[in-house]
Amino acid sequence: MDKRKFLKISGAAAAGIMVSPLISCGNASSNSSEMIKGDSAAGPSIMTEFKQATLGFDYAALEPHIDAKTMEIHFSQHHAGYVRKLNNALTESPEFEANNIENVLARVVAGQTGIRNNAGGHYNHSLFWECLTPGGSEKPNGKLAEAISSGFGSQEKFEDAFFKSAKTRFGSGWAWLTADKEGKLAISSTPNQDNPMMKNIVKEGGTPILGIDVWEHAYYLKYQNMRGDYINAFMDIVNWDTVAAKYALV
Ligand code: MN
Repeated sequence: MDKRKFLKISGAAAAGIMVSPLISCGNASSNSSEMIKGDSAAGPSIMTEFKQATLGFDYAALEPHIDAKTMEIHFSQHHAGYVRKLNNALTESPEFEANNIENVLARVVAGQTGIRNNAGGHYNHSLFWECLTPGGSEKPNGKLAEAISSGFGSQEKFEDAFFKSAKTRFGSGWAWLTADKEGKLAISSTPNQDNPMMKNIVKEGGTPILGIDVWEHAYYLKYQNMRGDYINAFMDIVNWDTVAAKYALV
């Protein structure tokens, strides 16, 4: 097996591990190790504690596209912080009891700042890690490639439009490739840690199947103010197999 193929397969296996918390971590009947169910005898307070999934590769594995120090800080400090603060925020909001992360995103309203920022922060970063693989992958094929062609004209035109969305997001935020229930694709962008699934907050909705973090913490150590160079590097290490798998589930 050549190295590239091995990387693709191991990347997909890692993605498989990391898909699970997004899909299952809030199901009250789930046995997923990604969710810790509280002691029901403790009362009606928080019943679900979100946990960060293991990163499917070493911090240095995305070099030279994303440097190890950025990965370490981003994963172990930024993302971990969102998870910790989300769990804290949920203790104050029992109405979210036993809901999964998608449900939290769907139900949160603008004034619930702690849950809005930290549920978004947890979900967004989980998706971000899943969509990356050391060395990158082959470009999409099959149904995803067809949807990209019909939605944007070609893979190249999609990448240009996605680049533009990520590059022009003012301040901190994300650019997304989303799919609607009919499988139609769209590109959108949100500020801060907002997410297209926050239907009470975000106008351009849909299910995100690819997202790029354009907060400066995602790239500044290596790229400083050259956000465009970071976006291009990101595009080279997208795991299109994971994106296609997510598209198939929408
Ligand atoms: Mn980030």
